[in-house]
Amino acid sequence: MTSPFSLDGRRAVVTGAASGIGAAIALAYAAAGARLVLADLNAERLAQQADACRARGAAVETVTADVGEEAGADSIVARCIEAFGGIDVLVNNAGMLTQARCTELTAGMWDEMMRVDLRSVFLCTRRALPPMIAQRWGRVINIASQLGIKGGAELCHYSAAKAGVIGFTKSLALEAAPHNVLVNAIAPGPIETPLVDGISAAWKAAKSAELPLRRFGLAEEVAPTALLLASDPGGNLFVGQTLGPNSGDVMP
Ligand code: NAD
Repeated sequence: MTSPFSLDGRRAVVTGAASGIGAAIALAYAAAGARLVLADLNAERLAQQADACRARGAAVETVTADVGEEAGADSIVARCIEAFGGIDVLVNNAGMLTQARCTELTAGMWDEMMRVDLRSVFLCTRRALPPMIAQRWGRVINIASQLGIKGGAELCHYSAAKAGVIGFTKSLALEAAPHNVLVNAIAPGPIETPLVDGISAAWKAAKSAELPLRRFGLAEEVAPTALLLASDPGGNLFVGQTLGPNSGDVMP
């Protein structure tokens, strides 16, 4: 019997796939039988990640591009259509994190956060939707953050961008579901990736202590949620949801 979580032959784009959660999602999708377009700014790490996915039997294309720019976002989705004849799954995962109190946030920091963590989600999705709608099958999975739900001190701009991702997800889910294109978000809790490398060990220890699970998550513990949402029949009834692999930090 075919696994309810199979992605056999599905054509998937994963942005920010060179590192952390995106890299883990790419590996999980490769193992589940997907064909992949992996995109990132970091060409060297992207090439390594593509090889790791090929070692799991996947056909993989890479695109070095900036997801926050129209040309970059368009080129990523276009590569999938050129290479594989269409697109079935889009994972909007690329993101960045900076930290400052609101009064110290510059307009430039604010704008860059919105560009990379929110505008990119709109740009990549806008390009991917028409072919998904035409084939009456598609999945868009947006990596938000629990900070978009609960907020975080010194993270007004990041929390606002991620709350925007969740709002975008719900609105688009309403538009797209009648076309059998399902749009959902994942709002991870703290996950051990290079994104949080800059945070002090003391802060991490204090944060871990307040988590019901008493520890940060790992990227490979988030990836199966993205596999569930992409799979058929596994993900068939999720519409506009925000799933929370978060060590118990937020309970909606
Ligand atoms: P990461 O830094 O390990 O990986 C992010 C990847 O995105 C990097 O490879 C980076 O090069 C790429 N990227 C950044 N800006 C880009 C751009 N403009 N164009 C193309 N690629 C770009 O981080 P991660 O922790 O794996 O984060 C992945 C996603 O998960 C992000 O959206 C992040 O906000 C979210 N998230 C992370 C955590 C966490 O604790 N690590 C928690 C909640 C949500």
